[in-house]
Amino acid sequence: MRSFLQSVFGKAKPKQVRILPQGVTITVDPGQTLLEAALANGFAYPHDCTVGTCASCKTRLKQGRVREATPFGYTLSKAELEAGYILACQAVPRDELTVVEIDPPSAELPAAETFSAQIVATEPLTHDILKVTVRADRPVHYVAGQYANLRVPSSSRFRSYSFANAPQRKGRSVLEFYIRKVPGGQFTEALFRGELDSEPLEMEAPQGAFHLHGGDGPMVCIAGGSGLAPLISILEHARINRIKRDCTLLFGARTQGDLYQLDVIRNIAANWQGEFSFIPVLSHEPDSSSWTGARGLVTEQIGPSSRKGAEGYLCGPPPMIDAAIERLVEHGVPLEKIFYDKFTDGRNA
Ligand SMILES: Cc1cc2nc3c(=O)[nH]c(=O)nc-3n(C[C@H](O)[C@H](O)[C@H](O)COP(=O)(O)OP(=O)(O)OC[C@H]3O[C@@H](n4cnc5c(N)ncnc54)[C@H](O)[C@@H]3O)c2cc1C
Repeated sequence: MRSFLQSVFGKAKPKQVRILPQGVTITVDPGQTLLEAALANGFAYPHDCTVGTCASCKTRLKQGRVREATPFGYTLSKAELEAGYILACQAVPRDELTVVEIDPPSAELPAAETFSAQIVATEPLTHDILKVTVRADRPVHYVAGQYANLRVPSSSRFRSYSFANAPQRKGRSVLEFYIRKVPGGQFTEALFRGELDSEPLEMEAPQGAFHLHGGDGPMVCIAGGSGLAPLISILEHARINRIKRDCTLLFGARTQGDLYQLDVIRNIAANWQGEFSFIPVLSHEPDSSSWTGARGLVTEQIGPSSRKGAEGYLCGPPPMIDAAIERLVEHGVPLEKIFYDKFTDGRNA
């Protein structure tokens, strides 16, 4: 069946796209996106949402021009756009030959499978974040930092949630998530009303490529709200495996009441191999309160270059990620060393 883009671009000629580092050349039919053509050619192109919100298909454009089916700037930061990154799922090649390069994942990421699952416990962490424990019908193999897509049978759409506990070698059947209530959100409003407690869930996992890379330089971790989840998973994994790196964890929240899992963070800090510094940053704490810690936006606390070899690990709402990328780049952390998961809310899905 012809897609909308194919009918609009029907008279144009097919284009060739060379994909590096694999060196594979594919033909992209008029109006097809780079991702559609790659998948149709049997090329395992990294991707997830396919609608330009998750950035899993982020790719560097080395040669040629592409048309943006929807603007890349919705998901990619200014620094990424300036460095020539595009989204393969929204890129329609314009030139005879286009060359793109995929950043190779530094870890072997397990393939996604479909699981049956059920919520076995919920615990409020703040007024709008729940710790949700889910039991899957069999162990899930994932890498710390990845996420799962969850769906109740009555809904047509999956929602993405990051694993908050560290993975286990034999896989994990009991999985924790930190889920924030989204006003007007179908899944989270029902979850907070307790309506999903006995509902069967369909889970597609693991998803995404956010994970700890293999360097030994300092880690600058920045979390906003429920974006703490994959960072706790990564830091717990690093602690358990006695990975020796210095680490700064910046945690942005509105008020003291929005900080959570502080015991878990204290335990990670106490058992960390190397220096560990934890900086909670509050943006809406009343001036009159007893809080003596950092105030303002969490990204304002990103200091002058985190020493040589530093890597950024960011997770939270899109504006926080974009600001953190700009700030880290300004302070000398190369774009290639900044890894993130943006908690987009499917508004343009
Ligand atoms: C990779 C990834 C990992 C994530 N991990 C987590 C996590 O660990 N924890 C967490 O809390 N969240 C996470 N999220 C966000 C989460 O997936 C959902 O976006 C969130 O829970 C909303 O689901 P919902 O069904 O409640 O809201 P939805 O019903 O999907 O609505 C979301 C928002 O969009 C608005 N909206 C929806 N449709 C439209 C429309 N057509 N037009 C205008 N507005 C619309 C709604 O009013 C609402 O404000 C993650 C997202 C991604 C991409």
